[in-house]
Amino acid sequence: MFSNWLYLHPYKKKQVFMKRIFNFSAGPATLPLEVLTEARDEFLDFQGSGMSIIEMSHRGGIFQKVHDESMARLRAVAAIPERFDILYMTGGASTQFALIPMNLARKGGKAGYINTGVWSKKAIEQAKILGVDFVEVASSKDQNHNYIPSPINVPAGLDYVHMTSNNTIYGTQFRTLPNPGDSKLVVDMSSDFLSRPIDWSHIGMAYAGLQKNAGPSGLTVVIIDREYYEREKEETPSMFRYSTFAKEQSLYNTPPTFQIYMFGLVLKWIEKQGGLTAVDAANEKKAKLIYDVIDAHPDFYLGHARKEDRSLMNVTWNLAKQELTDDFLKGTKAASMDGLKGHRSVGGLRASIYNAMPLEGCQALADYMKDFLKKNG
Ligand SMILES: *Cc1c(COP(=O)(O)O)cnc(C)c1O
Repeated sequence: MFSNWLYLHPYKKKQVFMKRIFNFSAGPATLPLEVLTEARDEFLDFQGSGMSIIEMSHRGGIFQKVHDESMARLRAVAAIPERFDILYMTGGASTQFALIPMNLARKGGKAGYINTGVWSKKAIEQAKILGVDFVEVASSKDQNHNYIPSPINVPAGLDYVHMTSNNTIYGTQFRTLPNPGDSKLVVDMSSDFLSRPIDWSHIGMAYAGLQKNAGPSGLTVVIIDREYYEREKEETPSMFRYSTFAKEQSLYNTPPTFQIYMFGLVLKWIEKQGGLTAVDAANEKKAKLIYDVIDAHPDFYLGHARKEDRSLMNVTWNLAKQELTDDFLKGTKAASMDGLKGHRSVGGLRASIYNAMPLEGCQALADYMKDFLKKNG
């Protein structure tokens, strides 16, 4: 399915082979071939309208239906309780880093932050800029963020506790969400959103830029408890308030229509896989293929994350012989794999194996790793 693919080239007017490789990029990242194919097939004429989905008004009936259906699908797929609103926003998770303290911090109150790496720290920086009082309730900084702090003791009375559920750069992931005491969690799920079922009991807000695990870049999904709106401040401009998006069903201004449409297709694909429980089981199986190779050869492959905190989305490791890293990467290109270079904060290698990465891709990488070891071990 993912190797060579025969199709009719629109300009060359003949059958050509299109090559799909295994793309391990951290984001934007690989998307299901079925989703891309469906989008391609209806791109010029959406449902007999004679227009592309990206050419039509966001106020028209056709787009409205796409919009509403995607939200309803998300609520069903992720089992989102009634107390939450679903908001479609832009500006990526990075904009949320600022909007959260702006809207959720109370005057005279205190926020909590769990620091598990670069993205957590960027969220903390925005709270600092806004002059919000906060406490770092836990951190994994002492060991280059190779673990998830546990147990986490959260002091009472915090406005919210911000955390990153999956640390894209370091390859660590919260297996279960921590208990925030009498507060609620605000969770950056950018890199594991819809990769597994979500326990909403301790969550006040969850958000994700979609380009890691759930769609193209340009759409940020926010799932927020309505009780937070009463904290909004008079001086906050409309576009920076969550309630503005809630009141107008995220159609206050022009939304990213193409991204919303693509997100709907991804949700439909998740349903077809059997929902989040099935997707989670598939992700476990995929990650195991690669971690098994690392575990079997600990003198050659050095996993970055502590075993019990390893991410099912981003596998990070170094070569004991670091000078071979470039060779390793060169060989992956020849084997139709891409995107495996590690982030500069960890170095080495990283395989991002989100929902849309097929089992065959993880198997190909595991086989390549065994082969590379045989030649260089
Ligand atoms: C990629 C990423 C971000 C940044 O997302 P943008 O959409 O580029 O702002 C934030 N948090 C996590 C966990 C990420 O993986």
